[in-house]
Amino acid sequence: MDNNKNMQFDIRTLLVAVTLATAFCAGARLLLWRMHPTIPGLGRWALAGGCAVISFVLILSYGILHWQPFLSLAQVSIVIGLLMSWDGFRRFIDKPALTTPVLLGITAAGLIWAAIAQAQHFAGAVVVGNAFLVATLSFLIARDLLLWPKGNTPVIRSTGGVFAINGIIFLIRAVVALDSPQTVDLLNPDGVAAAMLLWLLCSMIAITLGMVLMTTEHLQSVLNNQANHDPLTGALNRRSFGVLYEQAAVHSRRHQLPLSVLMIDLDNFKQANDQLGHDFGDKVLCSFVAVAQKVLREDDVFCRFGGEEFVALLPSTSSETALVVADRLRSAFAIDSASLGAKVNHAPFAITASIGIAELEQDERFESFIRRADTALYRAKDNGRNRCEKAG
Ligand code: GH3
Ligand code: MG
Ligand code: MG
Repeated sequence: MDNNKNMQFDIRTLLVAVTLATAFCAGARLLLWRMHPTIPGLGRWALAGGCAVISFVLILSYGILHWQPFLSLAQVSIVIGLLMSWDGFRRFIDKPALTTPVLLGITAAGLIWAAIAQAQHFAGAVVVGNAFLVATLSFLIARDLLLWPKGNTPVIRSTGGVFAINGIIFLIRAVVALDSPQTVDLLNPDGVAAAMLLWLLCSMIAITLGMVLMTTEHLQSVLNNQANHDPLTGALNRRSFGVLYEQAAVHSRRHQLPLSVLMIDLDNFKQANDQLGHDFGDKVLCSFVAVAQKVLREDDVFCRFGGEEFVALLPSTSSETALVVADRLRSAFAIDSASLGAKVNHAPFAITASIGIAELEQDERFESFIRRADTALYRAKDNGRNRCEKAG
């Protein structure tokens, strides 16, 4: 019966292949979610995969039993799957999740439309309505992925592109179905149905791959962030300082601009730890970072060098100006730490910082630059602490 000479694909075989591929994709999404349960959106993607499998199983069942409600339910399941995908992508890219009224509203619209069309024995209406709904949802997902400035990576853009193409294809399908619903029947043994199934196969794989790659990219950025930041204070660490120093030094030499460094060490910190506890010491370190981030400019590079030592790199800043900035930082921290109300033996315990300043000299190496700032810092300590000293 299926030996239509125009037919190049056996529709039922293709349908089984799409169903199997969808099941494998759903399995992959489920694994992805199990592996990274804390990443937002992955659970929704897994649910969407489950809905897609249900849809194809229903379409397959319709192909065998020819019971129309199977087809209508398959269409509704596709819409729910797309809603889950959309919600998942929004959660993943840090956009507000879809609200329950939106989720329930669209699902109810799909169900009511399918029920009415079913009661009226108008299968074509289900196909048309569903295709419009799928196109609309695909465009909405594409819009969120393509126009999201915060996470606009090639992987996110490509996945958005697949949804945009899906939207266009389903829009055409809706328009064609308006005219002749039988042309768009997924079991109709002509080229259109085969092409549609092939697209569903490719898009399902492409979208699932997109989800896997987006997750990999997310994990990579989390790792990069962890590798470059100090876990206690959230400040950049010594490792990232080396890289950022190189960039700042190249820029300063190329444009003949001054570059200064502040070497900062908290005073009597061991005593603060011993007398007031390690947790209090940690709190002081965090409050110092908060003060520094307020006082310094956005293009200054501020890092925790280790322990209670910090370093700040000030581009386009001479040592004279750097001294003013350093003193502003020192006094802001003295005021801030006084507000912590630390007391030892009922007497206020001052937590302060000493700062050494150096300006990069012509052809000077990194080690020498830092050493000069360090020497100035030791001079500040020797001269009584809670003060700033400039390298000679
Ligand atoms: P000085 O004024 O000469 O700098 O004296 P100091 O006590 O600050 O210097 P010292 O190097 O003797 O002590 C530094 C202390 O910093 C010792 C260590 O216990 C403490 N420290 C280092 N890292 C951390 C941390 O992550 N948290 C806390 N709470 N303390 C830390
Ligand atoms: Mg120290
Ligand atoms: Mg110290």
